Amino acid sequence: NRRVLICAGTGCVASGSRDVQQVMLQAVKDAGITDCEVSITGCHGFCEQGPIVIVEPEGVFYGGVSADDVEEIVEKHLKNGELVERLFFTEPNSGDKDKYYRDIMFYKKQERMVLKNCGHINPEKIDEYIVTGGYSGLIKTFTDFTSQKVVEEVKTSGLRGRGGGGFPTGLKWQFTAQAQGDVKYVVCNADEGDPGAFMDRSILEGNPHAVIEGMMIAGYAVGATEGYVYVRAEYPLAIKRLERAIAQAEEYGILGGNVLGSGFSFKLKIKAGAGAFVCGEETALLNSIQGERGMPRVRPPFPANEGLWYKPTLLNNVETYANIPIIMEKGGDWYASRGTEKSKGTKVFALTGKINNTGLAEVPMGITLREIIFDIGGGIKDGKKYKAVQIGGPSGGCLPEEQLDLPIDYDSLISAGAMMGSGGLVVMDETTCMVDLARYFLTFTQNESCGKCVPCREGTKRMLEILTRITEGDGQEGDIETLERLAKSIKNTSLCGLGQTAPNPVLSTLRYFRNEYEAHINKKW
Ligand code: SF4
Repeated sequence: NRRVLICAGTGCVASGSRDVQQVMLQAVKDAGITDCEVSITGCHGFCEQGPIVIVEPEGVFYGGVSADDVEEIVEKHLKNGELVERLFFTEPNSGDKDKYYRDIMFYKKQERMVLKNCGHINPEKIDEYIVTGGYSGLIKTFTDFTSQKVVEEVKTSGLRGRGGGGFPTGLKWQFTAQAQGDVKYVVCNADEGDPGAFMDRSILEGNPHAVIEGMMIAGYAVGATEGYVYVRAEYPLAIKRLERAIAQAEEYGILGGNVLGSGFSFKLKIKAGAGAFVCGEETALLNSIQGERGMPRVRPPFPANEGLWYKPTLLNNVETYANIPIIMEKGGDWYASRGTEKSKGTKVFALTGKINNTGLAEVPMGITLREIIFDIGGGIKDGKKYKAVQIGGPSGGCLPEEQLDLPIDYDSLISAGAMMGSGGLVVMDETTCMVDLARYFLTFTQNESCGKCVPCREGTKRMLEILTRITEGDGQEGDIETLERLAKSIKNTSLCGLGQTAPNPVLSTLRYFRNEYEAHINKKW
């Protein structure tokens, strides 16, 4: 049957897709069309083009659809088989108009594994997840794998944590599995606080069952029977979809006691966080779930041994868990065959800033920045010149034009002075002042510093004072050297990752755009 799929991710909802859905439902009914289902989906990824409407099975893509366009789609396309050309997507570089979803460059270079269901199934219906193979990874786990074998499979896959640091996931699972304790927990970090990042939000909104399935497999592997998803309260739609998904999974006997007759029990709760960036740090997150102030703990002990309520705890982020069902379904070896030698699989990136095609893209590890920004992202807005991309959010770094052919993986980004982070990509054009940009990110981390340790609390403040005076034309000789000295000691002595990475935007802009700092100080800007 024909299906009209209307994107109901946060981006499209904000641009009016709910109205499109209501009007479409009524118009299809009024037209007496009975062989056509009108359904919502999660985020299609191409947020720039919202609200997005896809007509299946042919895969026609309509972008920027408003409620006023619905009648024409129904009359022309659904009733008479003529396409509505004015709603096709126009490629920014060639000017070509694409009828079909599969022809659009934005999608062509992607490898959508984690996002496979986003934009294709209704995330509020568990049946649609199951029909597309959902929960088969869990069933296979129960039937073919011992707990230890699951850990081995994840190790074989080479999956690394998608939340920031890129720690090997299988090793983390092994530590938690080996930890002594009668009670263990599995926690999902959905705190996603980087400016410009919305990967986890879109996965939860568009494919919530994949996260539940991944967490359950993790619980089985490490010996935990209870899990928490810590998600920021600013993500109401993600919370709503997750709540609904949990309720449906419980109703189907997938979550709860003696899951699918396996003898394994697992329950899942949601904890809404108040949106502090530091609560994305794993130990601050655990404190926050416990109802305490969201401040990082001194490590060791690590959460694998003393985590939630000081019990052994496995903590991964949304995208990491969403990869697990794929690994169990297709095998660790298959997964390890994608990506690069040390960074396996795919990564979801949020493309924002001065780029034509803003949105969410899932790409194989090893793809170059140039392919992401110019092929998928459609290049720089208004014909301007590329200047840099901030990768990895406020903890990451800025990469200039000479790094555009850098293959994206955890290690190459670190050596270039940036980091994968959770996957935010903010693109800058030739008009951006890089000192101002560094100041912007440092203002963010300075505001979000929890204040527990001196280097981060005081050091970021001093750095910010210097950056502010440089951008205001009051920079002094020696400021750059002081910035470098402060950055080094903050990195080396801060208690948690927030402080340890806070100077990165300053250091990377100093590395690649030092001339702009000097020009400000020498009043040549
Ligand atoms: Fe708090 Fe910053 Fe210290 Fe982390 S590094 S504990 S955020 S003050």
